[in-house]
Amino acid sequence: MIRQDPSANFALPQLPEGLETLGEIALNLWWTWNPRGKNLFRLINPYLWKESGHNPIRLLKMIPSEELQALMKEERFLREYRYVTALFRQYMEDKTIYSEEEPLPIAYFCAEFGLHHSVPIYSGGLGFLAGDILKEASDMGLPMVGVGFMYPEGYVRQVIGTDGWQKGANETIDKDTAPIERVLDEKGGHLTFQVPFIDPPVYASLWKINVGRVPLYLLDTDIEQNDPWDRQISSHLYVPDPNQRLRQQIVLGIGGYRALELLGIEYSILHLNEGHPAFALFERVRSCVENDKLSLDDAIDRVRKTSIFTTHTPLQAATDVYSFDMMSHYFSDYWQRLGMDKERFMSFGLNPDAPQAGFNMTVLGFKLCVQRNAVSQKHAQVTREIWKSLFAQEPENKTPIVGITNGVHLPTWLGDELRESIDGILGENWLALQADPDLWSRIDEMEDEEIWQLHYVYKVRMVNFIRERVRRKWSDEHIDPVVAMAEGVMLDPDVLTIGFARRMTAYKRPDLILHDLDRLEKIINNFSRPVQIVFAGKAHPADQPGKEILQRIFRTAQDRRFRGRIAFVEDYGEGTAKYLVRGCDVWLNNPQIPMEACGTSGMKAAINGTLHCSTLDGWWPEGYNGHNGWAIGGESSDDAKDAEALYTLLEKEIVPLYYTLDEHKRPAGWIARMRESIRSVAPHFGSRRMMQEYLGKFYLPISKEVTTWEH
Ligand SMILES: *Cc1c(COP(=O)(O)O)cnc(C)c1O
Repeated sequence: MIRQDPSANFALPQLPEGLETLGEIALNLWWTWNPRGKNLFRLINPYLWKESGHNPIRLLKMIPSEELQALMKEERFLREYRYVTALFRQYMEDKTIYSEEEPLPIAYFCAEFGLHHSVPIYSGGLGFLAGDILKEASDMGLPMVGVGFMYPEGYVRQVIGTDGWQKGANETIDKDTAPIERVLDEKGGHLTFQVPFIDPPVYASLWKINVGRVPLYLLDTDIEQNDPWDRQISSHLYVPDPNQRLRQQIVLGIGGYRALELLGIEYSILHLNEGHPAFALFERVRSCVENDKLSLDDAIDRVRKTSIFTTHTPLQAATDVYSFDMMSHYFSDYWQRLGMDKERFMSFGLNPDAPQAGFNMTVLGFKLCVQRNAVSQKHAQVTREIWKSLFAQEPENKTPIVGITNGVHLPTWLGDELRESIDGILGENWLALQADPDLWSRIDEMEDEEIWQLHYVYKVRMVNFIRERVRRKWSDEHIDPVVAMAEGVMLDPDVLTIGFARRMTAYKRPDLILHDLDRLEKIINNFSRPVQIVFAGKAHPADQPGKEILQRIFRTAQDRRFRGRIAFVEDYGEGTAKYLVRGCDVWLNNPQIPMEACGTSGMKAAINGTLHCSTLDGWWPEGYNGHNGWAIGGESSDDAKDAEALYTLLEKEIVPLYYTLDEHKRPAGWIARMRESIRSVAPHFGSRRMMQEYLGKFYLPISKEVTTWEH
């Protein structure tokens, strides 16, 4: 009934006959994690490729049609085109690697997805995790469908004033150059539907992004049928107004479920990433009652057994809670339709620790899903502790929440040149075996010279990237020279470089290293062993303390006593992250324990040989082995003590190790740690290992159980 074809994206220009697959590849994010895919677009026109911001659709629109025609005569280009086309076809049509015991289809719901900078529908870690999960599901051939939101105004673009204050500017998603397709209805119009149960009615239309073999469907409320207030529902990520936020989550959960039904996508496993889309669980109950004719209790039982809830926060206070009045306003018809009374309906969101507070979305996830997980082993302990009254009826120490530690998609986050070098050592097929630690022991064969040279290339690229950004600001915005200094124009690729790039918020303590400026100055300005620090990260627009921390860092970077060796890089996002995680020497992470549920940027750094230096929070207690980075402080947090521990580490271990050279003028001790970092982190903290756990612990057991019901 629903039509889907690539011509639905009228953003694409007409391509010459014989080059049609270029369009198909441009509309599938597969190319973003395949070096030969990237190279194909670069070959078309290297200069325009850069100018397009590495966005193939923009490139194909920028390029004059004669130039595209002329490509048909370039033998070298055509050879590469045919080769990449063959790779792409093989990938898309490959038999799944789990063909033996394929799980039932999985619908993966999340409020944000971090996939590529041409689709700004993410704010941070949660989104990148969701994006990496879709990519890995595609690589593994798992039958997954993603459901999320189109945010026409994206997240905030960060602009920092001369005074260091973050001013918000919205990044508007350019629907004409984003790799998105309209989903069409049977008449060829944009598929639009009414979200059930919101009164007055709200409509959403549907877009699709191809993530390799996995489709991601995005709901968009910024359409003519809606009045301005409703058009705004999906305009930004995480709106602060509670009423609008509730409407957003109704559209995501209930509207998202409805969209799958309209698309005729049959699925049996519902995976909810964080509480935002948890209303999908109610809609699923309703579908079991109304379509499958189950009793209410049987429907609830079925939903509980076939749905998965992943929590990402170590704080009850950080979960979404809606007043009972607001809930009644939207759901009073709904509970009647389900045959429930108000009390029973509200009980699904009742937090025993705060029963008056309202309806809690995380509690809803826990209560309507039997399979629940936290995102690192440490976070699982914390989660079991903070929600223990919810599971008071369960036996002691048996709170049913498991830990599945996050992982990062290796082909996305590993530098292409490093990947090529790993191909040479582990064999071309290593990605298929990437979760096997034995395979990675062969990294020992990588020569010092090779590792060091590659790292230096990444470092120079990062410094050039930062300087080029400042140069553009210098010429376009006439910024003050002190601002140019603070934004990194004086960075030096030969100096030991510490990176701190993450959300600017109090618990992450971005300014911990500024605790004692005199001591820091001695470390930074050491005559023969200097150090530089690169900061990046956005503060949430409503996070005043976060903005103040950012301002303090920016002002310190403007202070001439640090001689241009502290830099703040504006507008952290997917593109900047790739430069920083590869180009820094040390990746600093000093959250207050136990506030970091997992953290993934440190994994991205570590697999590239950028050494992780972190408090023992999130994934690091599992990842740190004494030789692959450093641990700051002890099991609990104290700012003064942790700062002291960090300075001592820098003075006594990190700086000397970096500047102690062997007879080849290379820091052999440092390089040994880089090798150990790649060897120990890549197999355990890649998304392959993570997805194998989701598959083994949740997807396959659920599939087996469902199969027995059907017989
Ligand atoms: C990986 C990533 C994050 C998440 O990093 P954390 O370590 O969890 O803070 C945030 N933003 C970007 C751009 C990323 O690539």
